[in-house]
Amino acid sequence: MQRKWEAIQQNLMKRKDEALFRENKEAVSSQKPERVVNGKEVLSFNSNDYLGLAGDVRLREAMTKAALKYGVGSGASHLLGGHTDEHTALEEELADFLERDRVLLFSTGYMANLGIIQAMVGRKGDVFADRLNHASLVDAGVLARAKVHRYYHSDMQNLQQKLEQYDKGASFVVSDGVFSMDGDVANVSQLVAFAKNYEAWLMIDDAHGLGVLGETGGGTLEQVSLSQEDVPILMGTFGKAFGTFGAFVAGKTALIEYIQQYARSSIYTTAMPAALVAATRVSLDIVKKEHWRREKLQWLIESFRTGAAERGISLMVSNTPIQPVSVGSNQAAIEVSAELWEKGVYVSPIRPPTVPEGTARLRVALSALHEESHIEQLLECLERSVVK
Ligand SMILES: *Cc1c(COP(=O)(O)O)cnc(C)c1O
Repeated sequence: MQRKWEAIQQNLMKRKDEALFRENKEAVSSQKPERVVNGKEVLSFNSNDYLGLAGDVRLREAMTKAALKYGVGSGASHLLGGHTDEHTALEEELADFLERDRVLLFSTGYMANLGIIQAMVGRKGDVFADRLNHASLVDAGVLARAKVHRYYHSDMQNLQQKLEQYDKGASFVVSDGVFSMDGDVANVSQLVAFAKNYEAWLMIDDAHGLGVLGETGGGTLEQVSLSQEDVPILMGTFGKAFGTFGAFVAGKTALIEYIQQYARSSIYTTAMPAALVAATRVSLDIVKKEHWRREKLQWLIESFRTGAAERGISLMVSNTPIQPVSVGSNQAAIEVSAELWEKGVYVSPIRPPTVPEGTARLRVALSALHEESHIEQLLECLERSVVK
């Protein structure tokens, strides 16, 4: 046993040496731009709460009221008594919103991805995945014991070569809609064309597009008017723009019924609490109605990008609230992040394995609750730290 403990100690030391060690910081309020974190007042650019709903009073009230009615825990899995009328209502409202036949809720996005791919792809099935897809999609391929073919990021030619080479008629193409660490949007129209041509399933994980993109917040697919005929499997989460917690898959009735039969991460887990579902229903209503949140976000994004260009701060190509600032080395990412922190600006460094080696970055995430003065403060600090 002694040797096992030593191996653990050595590994931890190595991670610290390589500037890869990770730790939590501790906040004492809801998500909002100005927060107290680790006892310090900071201006935060870390949150995926893009529309500023995580702390919204209407969500808080809905959750409280539902907790008084339904209690806290759901007490069982969906199929064995944990499913309530709140769950049914959210599934129906979402299906309606996304113009898809049916929706199935999952407890988290990570679990949704595991369950969908494990249910849809047989052992040794071929999965074609963008290299920069979210880690949960990578893990899903492993769990399904599928053969995963990763194509270069958004390289449609590379995908086509792989489809030509490996497609055995049981293929499955999967991509993030908006890439979580880069902020760029997938070429979904081309993916649709390939999926039709090769008769492959197509799944889009729109965790970062839902609520943010599209006229009514319908996400990446609404923006390019793609239906369930084009993209049969749409997955989304509530933990980002919706400001709550949980996830879902949407599609035709037979597909959803099929996933419900076979997705082990849905069958063998406790249903999401009804109070959380009630809050998410209110959130969905706000996402649909309060278009100003998306407009303000777009305005902040443009303001940040223009300001960065003026100051020579190099950004990645992105029109979404995810605005990474490239810094390169892990050490540089940590140093710049620490310098900003000293000045009261909280932006997390993102390092491998979350992103490829040599592409460490500061992931600036904007929210509809930010103001122009916040953007100004961020830009000034970045100019002093990254433009040398
Ligand atoms: C956050 C995220 C997930 C996981 O969702 P959770 O509900 O947080 O588990 C899945 N896919 C993508 C692209 C994400 O960004």
